[in-house]
Amino acid sequence: MNQHPETPNPAASPRVRRTSTTLADGRELIYFDDSEPYLGGAQTREVVDERPLDERPTAGTMRLDALTGDWVSIADHRQNRTFLPPTDECPLCPTGGGTMPSEIPAHEYDVVVFENRFPSFASGPTADRSSASGSAVAESAVAESAAPGNPLLAHAPALGRCEVVCFTSDHGASFSSLSPARARTVVDVWADRTRELSAIDAVEHVFPFENRGQEIGVTLHHPHGQIYAYPFVPARTASLLRSATEHHQRTGRLLGADLLAAELDAGTRVVIRGTHWTAYVPYAARWPVEVNLVPNRDVPDLVALDSIERDELAEVYLDLLRRLDRYYQGPDGSPIAMPYIAGWHQAPVRQGRDVSRLHLQVMSVLRAPGRLKYLAGSESGVGAWINDVSPEAVAARLREVG
Ligand SMILES: [Zn+2]
Repeated sequence: MNQHPETPNPAASPRVRRTSTTLADGRELIYFDDSEPYLGGAQTREVVDERPLDERPTAGTMRLDALTGDWVSIADHRQNRTFLPPTDECPLCPTGGGTMPSEIPAHEYDVVVFENRFPSFASGPTADRSSASGSAVAESAVAESAAPGNPLLAHAPALGRCEVVCFTSDHGASFSSLSPARARTVVDVWADRTRELSAIDAVEHVFPFENRGQEIGVTLHHPHGQIYAYPFVPARTASLLRSATEHHQRTGRLLGADLLAAELDAGTRVVIRGTHWTAYVPYAARWPVEVNLVPNRDVPDLVALDSIERDELAEVYLDLLRRLDRYYQGPDGSPIAMPYIAGWHQAPVRQGRDVSRLHLQVMSVLRAPGRLKYLAGSESGVGAWINDVSPEAVAARLREVG
């Protein structure tokens, strides 16, 4: 097993010690330690993953939907992935507590990142694809399928990387219950991973996200998020980029900045106004509960945040998540933990970086206690959203539970 403690890179905060190691099947696992004895180096991460694992997964296939131009990853190996295991078989808990070794060989950890065992995007069999780019993917896909197949049935290797981020070793915790210091470590981890994953030749976009709650389709209860590094610019990201580019061409300004100014001017949808961050319910919110958390300064991605902005992000994000957990009450008045999807919209790796502006989108399908919004005919069929809740009412409730 490779074990090489690394000195923090200049972009990373010295408040975290980073140690990269390798799991039994060759996947990378990185410890991000923010507490002793590891932070100061009194102890180092020297644990070996002794599980008899199959070889690491390589890239599957993605297919181009000729009708929409969207790539679809066909990851049929994921059908066999771990689904809501009992707590004593949790693959994200430290090894030693449960009945079987987990994905994390250590007996405790602070924050850990590792390559997903069932990835939708992974390294290719050769792992060498230095000449690849987004358009090259499409071209090579068409070339691949031109003979003998039909060019309308294009495909390409689903190159990239999928990572799991464990926020804490505490199985019963949630992001909203983390300490501000731990949330701050996670911010550094997102930035670190964005920087490293953006440097992979095949990668065109990096998307850190968290699915929370069984209503969202979470298959593991342990508090964790994921990071997908895609070999293309995803459809919604491309749509955001088109709007930002058009606005910039027309006005010379950033759409995200002008929109923040418009929301501050209107005021009715603003939930939290910090020195460096603002949370507001979008004017045309699509989900029953939806909030954008945006930096007050123009930054393209998480890597560009300075340490003061990262400090406040940890505080403001925890504040927002705790408000969400007080948003609904059960019949007995007890708060209902909000199921949510939280995703970081960053500038793509190689396009539109001068017009893109970082923001976090948090959204929930819960439209009332016990009642879910389904993406049905209009939303799923033609992408036309209907929201039963007024964004101003959502903002007012989020201010009330602050
Ligand atoms: Zn667990």
